[in-house]
Amino acid sequence: MKAVVYDGPRQVSVKDVPDAKIERPTDVLVRITATNICGSDLHMYEGRTDFETGRTFGHENLGEVIEVGDGVDKVKVGERVVLPFNVSCGFCKNCERGFTNYCLTTQPDPHFAGAAYGFADMGPWQGGQAELLRVPYGDHNCLRLGEDSVDKENDYVMIADIFPTGYHATELAGVVPGDSVVIYGSGPVGLMAALSATIKGASKVMVVDRHPDRLRLAEQIGAIAIDDSKVDPVQFVLEETMGLGADRGCECVGYQAHDPEGTEHPNMTLNNLVKSVRFTGGIGSVGVYVPQDPGGADKLAKQGEIAFDYGLHWFKGQTLGSGQCPVKKYNRRLRDLVAAGKATPSWIVSHNLPLEEAPEAYLNFDERNDGWTKVVLNPTRATA
Ligand SMILES: [Zn+2]
Ligand SMILES: [Zn+2]
Repeated sequence: MKAVVYDGPRQVSVKDVPDAKIERPTDVLVRITATNICGSDLHMYEGRTDFETGRTFGHENLGEVIEVGDGVDKVKVGERVVLPFNVSCGFCKNCERGFTNYCLTTQPDPHFAGAAYGFADMGPWQGGQAELLRVPYGDHNCLRLGEDSVDKENDYVMIADIFPTGYHATELAGVVPGDSVVIYGSGPVGLMAALSATIKGASKVMVVDRHPDRLRLAEQIGAIAIDDSKVDPVQFVLEETMGLGADRGCECVGYQAHDPEGTEHPNMTLNNLVKSVRFTGGIGSVGVYVPQDPGGADKLAKQGEIAFDYGLHWFKGQTLGSGQCPVKKYNRRLRDLVAAGKATPSWIVSHNLPLEEAPEAYLNFDERNDGWTKVVLNPTRATA
């Protein structure tokens, strides 16, 4: 099969690799028809992780089931499914409590929890930027889709990661109807947090970024776009909230946060959130931070440590929730919103490309080139 293979920093190629196949009775084999390039792929693409050369990226996957193992009861050949980026078992101590983002059995390293397809330090699972994907514990990990899954493929594939992850940011922050919400980062996850806050009935949604194409997308769903290369975002949010600060805030940038000139400050967005969110407000942090970052800007950053303004955060009595999203907690509900036409997360998709064009897509997305807001790769064709 063809797959996107990591060759080293800022180098990927499409190569022939051994076909993914059923390895255990509980496996499902999926022919991938849609698989996204994610902002978190870029950390690996840039060589900022220990992702091994020769491995395949791709944790936002959707496709058609073409084979099931003997131990699979629910999922049938021919069904269209979207796969949570978390690979989880369903029976470990964390999965039982709904924390499929911190599965203990699909992650072989006893010092870590949580697994994902095609991801550094997240287990041995191959990515789905390929023609075929092996899905372990298929009955547990496949979310089945209805007859509209071909027409709405670009919507449903967002349920593999970014739509639930954006929604999770609003859950961690505690967004309820009427809240004012500020979101740092208008990349795909930040835009999904804005969409989620809107669905939940926020009274005001503000999005901070500096890329005009992304800010335009935020405005298209009624959010207030704040360009931090032109205004002080904290001051702007305070002015929009009668000096009090937003009720809730979401961090959707992560450890490679940088100023408009390009200098990295891994604490920038978190500290701006502490300042932008009101006393007793909530903050949800879903942008990726890592325990070590050898490529980090300074000694602290290299050790994965952040100069966090804890004094002000404590003084304001804010709550802070963080970590990866447990996709299974939300994916059925978000699927049903898409099916009912109440959410159209595909509005951010700028490109549908064949697998062969992945190298060019990575290059453009990594450079944040104008108009490359979200890339969906289509390794094989969806058939209705
Ligand atoms: Zn992702
Ligand atoms: Zn588990």
